[in-house]
Amino acid sequence: MSPYRIPFNRVTLTGKEQTYIATAVERGHISGDGEFTRRCSELLERELGAPRVLLTTNCTHALEMCALLLDLRPGDEVIFPSFAFVTTVNAFVLRGVKPVFADIRPDTLNLDEDLLAGLVGPRTRAIVALHYGGVACEMDAILALARERRIPVVEDNAHGLFASYKGKKLGTFGCLATQSFHETKNITCGEGGALVINDPALMARAEIVREKGTNRARFFRGQVDKYTWVDLGSSYLPSEILAAFLWAQLEARESIQATRGNIWQRYERELASWAGQSGVSLPSVPAHCQQPYHVFYLLLPNLETRTRLIEHLKSRGILAVFHYLPLHLSEMGLRLGGKPGQCPVTEDLSDRLLRLPLFPGLTDADIDDVIEGVQAFKV
Ligand SMILES: *Cc1c(COP(=O)(O)O)cnc(C)c1O
Repeated sequence: MSPYRIPFNRVTLTGKEQTYIATAVERGHISGDGEFTRRCSELLERELGAPRVLLTTNCTHALEMCALLLDLRPGDEVIFPSFAFVTTVNAFVLRGVKPVFADIRPDTLNLDEDLLAGLVGPRTRAIVALHYGGVACEMDAILALARERRIPVVEDNAHGLFASYKGKKLGTFGCLATQSFHETKNITCGEGGALVINDPALMARAEIVREKGTNRARFFRGQVDKYTWVDLGSSYLPSEILAAFLWAQLEARESIQATRGNIWQRYERELASWAGQSGVSLPSVPAHCQQPYHVFYLLLPNLETRTRLIEHLKSRGILAVFHYLPLHLSEMGLRLGGKPGQCPVTEDLSDRLLRLPLFPGLTDADIDDVIEGVQAFKV
């Protein structure tokens, strides 16, 4: 149990999880790729409008699959936003990739598309776009540059399931995209993820990479008569028990998203005047981006006020947390060539961002408490 009256996040159950898990167990198929896995992948394919979705053990592993599928090798360069999750980059560095850190836009905190042309070089082999909070990166500009320079784009869409950019679902822009079903994400099975494959040329190998480098999937479909080692791969299939849990959550996706949306909109509406008077910014969501209400954040004037607000909320039993530390300045990032001052917007905003509790189990009284707690804070 969280020591906080209002934790930052709490898993919201739909009530069906245990029933479906019992069904999976009774069926006697608890390894990967059973009935629940099939249902989850088909639902995701249909809802996203993506040709193929494979469930994976987590989003990190889906990102590792991307690095394998793009045949990335030591010395290849990949462009990432520095304001990102560790494994967004680490999954590629595992293959020997040299990360090139890009700064972010100050409004959406996404990869700044205007900087890309200056970062692309002869060894650039991919661009990884992370949709922060599920608010889309400027995909038109990113894809135009990528097409011109013939560089594949991968979307880390861990935050952005069911969100869209100009009416098209996130996760369907890159040749590959990844999803997370970690406990902290909108739809969860504890630990889980998915790889979205938009480029048909990568589909056959994606199955192989996910099945330990074997052609087991083709064997089961009767397309080959031997099941054997054919390529690099690893073991990236989640158990049916997790897929059963995930199915319960996916079935309830509309009510989960609607509840999150109501909380997010209350925060935005009821904190607007306090923010205006306090020199605090609230999230900026461009009109052409439909968001999934994954994160609600405040941008405080400086690190000192953020630290004080965290303490102030803690004293009221509320846990609010900051987010990514700039990766180019992390211990590993510095070893890989990161330099202070390299991504000034990331360096500035990462000190000032504070996320408020956001999960469907928050009661109206909890939300009142958070809002009143913030409003009572003198910046
Ligand atoms: C959560 C997260 C991941 C990692 O997800 P796992 O499923 O825990 O591996 C990767 N990228 C981003 C942006 C995330 O938020």
